[in-house]
This record gives sequence, structure tokens and C-alpha cells, in this order.
Amino acid sequence: MARIHELSNLLANQIAAGEVIERPASVVKELVENAIDAGATQIEILVADAGESMIRVVDNGDGIDPEDVPLAFTRHATSKINDRHDLFNIMSLGFRGEALPSIAAIADVTLNTTTATSNTGLMYHIKGGKQVSATPANGRRGTVVTVRDLFYNTPARLKYLKRPQTEMSRIADIMNRIALSYANIAFTVTADGRNLLQTTGNGNQQQVVAAIYGRDVAQKMIEISGEDDDFNVTGFISLPELTRGSRDYLTILINGRFIKNFAVSNAVIRGYGSKLMVGRFPMGVVNVSTSPLLIDVNVHPQKSEVRLSKETELADLIIKTIKDRLADENLIPDAYENL
Ligand code: ADP
Ligand code: MG
Repeated sequence: MARIHELSNLLANQIAAGEVIERPASVVKELVENAIDAGATQIEILVADAGESMIRVVDNGDGIDPEDVPLAFTRHATSKINDRHDLFNIMSLGFRGEALPSIAAIADVTLNTTTATSNTGLMYHIKGGKQVSATPANGRRGTVVTVRDLFYNTPARLKYLKRPQTEMSRIADIMNRIALSYANIAFTVTADGRNLLQTTGNGNQQQVVAAIYGRDVAQKMIEISGEDDDFNVTGFISLPELTRGSRDYLTILINGRFIKNFAVSNAVIRGYGSKLMVGRFPMGVVNVSTSPLLIDVNVHPQKSEVRLSKETELADLIIKTIKDRLADENLIPDAYENL
């Protein structure tokens, strides 16, 4: 046996990257979540070759103080939580301080950032975990992160990627769900020069549904709302006549974070009872808001799975909310002039 030694930073970051950055869509998710946490109201996503050659996220958020930029690329460095109390009270999308160092360990990254208070911004270039350059730069307030040559130094990862169409559809899927989560942010997604998604950021979630799935779909949605002591549930779900062959068209958001949780999405389906044919699933978006104390986000490196302390109670509330709504005599979708 060899003697024990500490792993180099780069190696540790590459290992973390293996968990956090599975594919180009993971980079998109992490960068866009950072832009949201920075308070951006406009976020533009540009992708080339399904993210393999380039992913760029442009935001108009707070920016990073030039002095802090190298820290942003250091593992477990974050501006979002301080202590144990914060960890159980997470209000931001990020908190692990792993995304930027992970991405920089396995790609070529430039970050151009300017804060509202600093006169000059910084253009920072890092590749394979090593700083290439850091120069003053003038930009408008906000941050632009450009990721090139993803997985260039981890060939096994690169080989494991699926066909470009598949990787691209994962990026589109993530962006659709994020846009649904943040109807108050204007998103523009462009892939190889083609516009994939455009939202206005006017806060109307049903209009985001229309932007993603089309007006015909949005017009067959009904609004739901229900609450109990612990949870508040709102959203738009499809009329029983509008279904799909998988549950992929159902987005569940808990405190603004889209999650995969079988019990919760199953509750939506169970709310329809016998109104759904076997093998058919509703479309829609269900927003759950609750105290952060009832959810543990810190169970999964990509934070897409969460642990819910009162899962059964939430499931029962969703079932009842949907059941009652669908039991209305005249199921007429709400007014849609604005779609
Ligand atoms: P986390 O989001 O978990 O804190 P990241 O590695 O994703 O970790 O980012 C590290 C830090 O860099 C963040 O805590 C934040 O302070 C800063 N940061 C990253 N992206 C942006 C951005 N687009 N705008 C402003 N600050 C950012
Ligand atoms: Mg982050």
C-alpha cells in the first residue's frame, strides 16, 4: 500500500466535477442558477454544438467583486451561506460552492464581471483549474460566463455524452423548467443561432407555459390553488383531455427549485383519479412553497432531489386540491386573452 497523502486541489475538483457536472446541461443549470442567485432579471443562454464547444450565460445580476473572483473558483467558497443555521434555511439555489471550481477543472472558462459599485470589472480566464489571466475589463453590470471545450481533459466523460440532439434536448428541458420556476425573469435561449425559448419576465407563469408548450396547450390549463398549515400549492395543470405519454411534462417546484420527487408528482396524477387513461399523464406546473426547514436540499450534489419532512401531508394536499378543482361542474379554463 502507498502512503496516505492529500489529493491536489485540481484532482479534488475533478472528482467533484464528476458528481456536479454530468453533462452540458449540468453546466447550463449551474450557471443559470448562479445568475438567478445574483438577482438577475434578464438571463441569456447561448449554446454551440449542444454545449460541447460553447456554453455562455449572460446576466444583469449583482456581479462579483474583482477581488473575490479567484475565490469564486475555489472549492467550498460561497457567498450564500455562513453557518449551520443557514444550511438548514437555504433560500438560494446554490450553497455548496462547487460549481465554478468543478467546471473550471474540466473546461476552459472565462468570466467577465462588473458590480454596480466598482468602476472597472474583471475578465478572468481559467482552464483545467489553472488561472490563465486576470485583466481589468469594462462591461455593463452583471456577469458573463463562457465555458468552452467541456470535458477536454476527461476523455471518459466526453465519450459518455449522448448524441448532440439528446444533449441539446436535456439543455432545453432544464431551461424550460427553470423558466417555469422564474416567470419574473426574462430568459432567452439560443442554440447554434436558433432561438429556442424566449420569455418576457412579466411574472405570468401561464405565459411561460405558452412560450414552452404552445398556446394550444396553455389554453387547456386550469389554475389550482390550495393550502394547509405547512404548504401552499399553486400552479397550472392540464384539463383531463390534454395528456402526454410520460410524466416529463409535469414540473414540480418547491420554493422555486425544480425537483424530482416521485411521491409529489404521483400525487398530481392521483388527483385526476379515473379521469386519466392508463399510461397517460397530465401536463403542468405545480409550485409548492413551504418553510425551508421542512426540506433538506443537501442530499444530492446536483440538488435535484430533496428530502421532505412532511411528504405524505403534501401529497394529500395536492391530491385534494386537484380533485376538488377537477370536480367543478364547468371546467372552463380561465381567461387567456394575454397568451
Ligand atoms: P455556489 O453557487 O454554491 O455559491 P458556485 O461555485 O456556483 O457556488 O459560485 C461561487 C460563488 O461565485 C457564488 O457564491 C457567488 O458569490 C459567485 N458567483 C458565481 N456566479 C455568479 C454570477 N453569475 N453573478 C454573481 N456572482 C456569482
Ligand atoms: Mg452555484
